[in-house]
Formats: sequence, structure tokens, C-alpha cells
Amino acid sequence: MAPSRTVREVLLDLVAIPSVNPSLGDTDTSGETEVAAYVEAHLRGMGVEVQLQPAECGRQNVIAHIDRGPNALRGVILLTAHMDTYPSSSDNALQRYPRIHNGRVYGRGAADCKASLATIMEAIIRASRCRDRREAYVVATVDEEYGLSGAKALAHLGVRPQLAITSEPTSLVPIVAQKGIVRSSILVSGNAMHAAYPHGQNVLNSAARILLATESFNTSLQQLPAHLSLSPATIVPTRLIGNGGMNVSPATATLWFDGRFLPGTSAEQFLASFRNFIDAETAGSVRYEFATSPFVSPPNECPLSNAAVQKFFECVRNVTRRCRPEAFSYGSEAGVLAQFSDASLVFGPGDPRCCHADDEYVDLPDVDCATTIYERLLTVA
Ligand SMILES: [Zn+2]
Repeated sequence: MAPSRTVREVLLDLVAIPSVNPSLGDTDTSGETEVAAYVEAHLRGMGVEVQLQPAECGRQNVIAHIDRGPNALRGVILLTAHMDTYPSSSDNALQRYPRIHNGRVYGRGAADCKASLATIMEAIIRASRCRDRREAYVVATVDEEYGLSGAKALAHLGVRPQLAITSEPTSLVPIVAQKGIVRSSILVSGNAMHAAYPHGQNVLNSAARILLATESFNTSLQQLPAHLSLSPATIVPTRLIGNGGMNVSPATATLWFDGRFLPGTSAEQFLASFRNFIDAETAGSVRYEFATSPFVSPPNECPLSNAAVQKFFECVRNVTRRCRPEAFSYGSEAGVLAQFSDASLVFGPGDPRCCHADDEYVDLPDVDCATTIYERLLTVA
């Protein structure tokens, strides 16, 4: 590897290594591991201290660290970007090989999240050579697209950052609030019955009652006081699986759902209110139980008065000529990072609307802007 690769070349190198999350793709973990090896070698080659950290998924985060320069501000900055990608819907060669066209890099992971990864790596390399550098950690995380186990492992670093930024495609707009996500399932049970003798509790009718209750629950959520910038919380049923046959109703059915809840509420509180609502609506006429270990991505609400957040906004404004923070309802590592940081937000190059899309791309000028913004954040006097 040439030691002087530009941020654009690093981006192309990263896109050229397929790294679909093994829980979503073909269970092969080697792509993510190969990206980690690239990140580690590139940073070490540029003289930045690097360590590896195992996450619960069995793969390893790559953690780069720089100490504080003699004149720098106090307070630690944490930047993350994930190494895994979402699978592509087609086995299209254009997805697998990066290409530049009209000032854009196309390819799976170009925007989500390899442009971000290339920019935060370049920022810490540049900052490491500067006397005004702040203490900073730059982390290439594993497993963002499925279990967030890379971000969750960072709680064990024993560091409380003043500001944590997870770099993701946001069109260079700081995302300062996002909903939490809880994904789980409900096991509905009843009597398997032959269609010739339809007696007892039909599981699919029970599931229908729960679905109707869910619809009413969503209506009730819309009546609650609105969050400043986020739409109301929701529960979206996503799958209903039963094992019935041509003329036999199932003994059980599993109803999956994806809930999005507002900052200020925990996943446990949100699920409890959903369960209570179903109980009230079905009046005990339905046998069901919730799965015990839901997937949770915590919500985030960034304290805007935090000094490092204000400095960051200044860096964004100075480079892009505007800074209008927004909110979104996607998942990201920000809610996990918020649990052990003073403030957390999402920001990065690329359009969020092309995440996971088959014609995924990132604009190269955005990549250069993001690199400058992160470099300034890490070296601001
Ligand atoms: Zn992402």
C-alpha cells in the first residue's frame, strides 16, 4: 500500500472490498475483516496509533487514537464510521466495482459508509501532525447494519467523549435528534384446528385482533404531545408467520414489528405501553407473549449548548456556508454513543436517500468538505 494515498483513493480502495454484514448477507465475515485490516494498515502506515477491539459479534473494531497537543482544547472527540454494508438487491457488477462518473463515486457502500470512513481516517492522519490537535478517537466499527455491536463495545473503552459523531450520509447536515428503534416479535397461540371442525381459538383471528389493536395504538401515539422536530412514534407490523396448512389453522403465529420511539422514552417503556394497549383492546381474549430480547437502537437528542457541538457547527458553517441541524427517523450508532458521551450526533458526506439503493453513490466534493470539517474539529484552537 502506497503511504500517500489520497482520501479519494482510500475511498475507492474501501469500496473495492465487499463487506456485506454477515447477518444480512452470505454469513461470510471475511469482507468486514479485510476492510479492518486495510484501515489498520493505512493508519499505522501514516504513523497513527491503532488498537483492535473485539465486539460481541466476534469481529473487531479498529480504534485510532491521538493525544492532546500542547495548545489544544480539552475534552475528547470520538468519530465513528462503520465498515459493514447492506446487501445489494442484485448481483450487479456495477455494485461490486467502484467507478467514478461525473464527480461521483458509485458502488455498494460508497455513501454508506465508506466515504465517511475514508474522511475520518484522513482527518485523524492530518490532525496527528498538528500541534493544536485535540485528543481524539477515530473508530472503524463492525456490525452497524445489524446489531450495533461495534458501537456498543465502545462503552468499554472507559472514555467519556465531550462529543461523539457517527459519520453517516446526511448531505453534510448535522442530525441532532433521532428516534429509537425496537424490533421484536409477538408469539400468538391458540388451537390448531381442521377446517371441517372449526372450534376453539383461531390463531390468525387472534393475530388480526392484535393487528387492529396496533393500528389503534398508532392513532393514540399521534395524539401525544409532539417532539420539537420528530414525527410521532410508530409501530409497524413487518411479518406474520404461521405454520397452518391448506385445511388446518396454525397452533401458533409470530407477528414481527418495528417500533420507532421518541427521545425521553426507553424501549422498555415504549414496549410496556404497547403491551398494555393490546391487553386493554383485546380484553384478555387473545393468548400471546412478547419475545424476551428485542433489538434496541436507543434514541438520541443532542444537547445543542455543548461547547464542542457549537464548535462543530462553526466548522460546518465555515466550510459549507450553512449549518441547519435536522432530525431523522433512521437508525444509527448515535443513540448508543450518547449513552457514554456528553453529546452525540450524526453527520457525513452522501445523500441519505441513496443508502442501501442499487445506484448508491457519493459526491466527491462532499467527501473533500467532510474531510476538512473533521480535520478542523480535531485541530480547532
Ligand atoms: Zn450507515
